[in-house]
Amino acid sequence: MGKGKKWGFAYLLIVGCFLSGIFLGNRAVTVFSETQPMEREHCIVIDAGHGGIDGGATSCTGKLESTFNLEIALRLNDLLHFLGYETKMIRTTDTSVYTKGETIAQKKISDLKERVRMVNETENALLVSIHQNNFSDGRYSGAQIFYADTEGSQLLAKQLQDAFVSTLNPGSNRQSKQSSGVYLMEHIDCTGVLVECGFLSNAQEEAKLRSPDYQQRLCCVIAATMIRFLSNT
Ligand SMILES: [Zn+2]
Repeated sequence: MGKGKKWGFAYLLIVGCFLSGIFLGNRAVTVFSETQPMEREHCIVIDAGHGGIDGGATSCTGKLESTFNLEIALRLNDLLHFLGYETKMIRTTDTSVYTKGETIAQKKISDLKERVRMVNETENALLVSIHQNNFSDGRYSGAQIFYADTEGSQLLAKQLQDAFVSTLNPGSNRQSKQSSGVYLMEHIDCTGVLVECGFLSNAQEEAKLRSPDYQQRLCCVIAATMIRFLSNT
């Protein structure tokens, strides 16, 4: 099958599943998580940002960023797994992944190092880290993609940013950017992107980000773009 055809097939499959309602509702695809992945070259590592002692930002309705991140990461994992991709999740519950430390600061450092270790120990890893944006001014909205300084990351980030603008964020002029000051992104060896799915400080966008339907759309955009990226590498 040609690359274009393969991509077209994957896209149709995702759209088909989406339209048929399989992916709507509360994690309706759990059953597919048990599907054995096909033989694939890459393992997609899904990092739900923050968790446990570190809730991240707080949305305008009081919901923690770590919860949004986990809900979206679990959906993305289900979808990619269903499509036959090997995946690995940094966390699957509301927890931090630190292994040592007495104080909260020490535990947070251990948590970051542990995430890096989990990514770097994975053979042929491709990292997608899920986060939400937050700002003092509630006007701002739209997804933004950050990339690591590793091979392929910039291209994947651009493709994801373009995919968001052409689907969920029409008219957005946000551009993908190199990550700066994010420990995980600066210490991984593999291709990696950080997806800020939207702004928790924007009431309209926060309401969308809370809805299972919109979360699933987000995951369709991310999964379809990653599959296209992988089929061309
Ligand atoms: Zn975050």
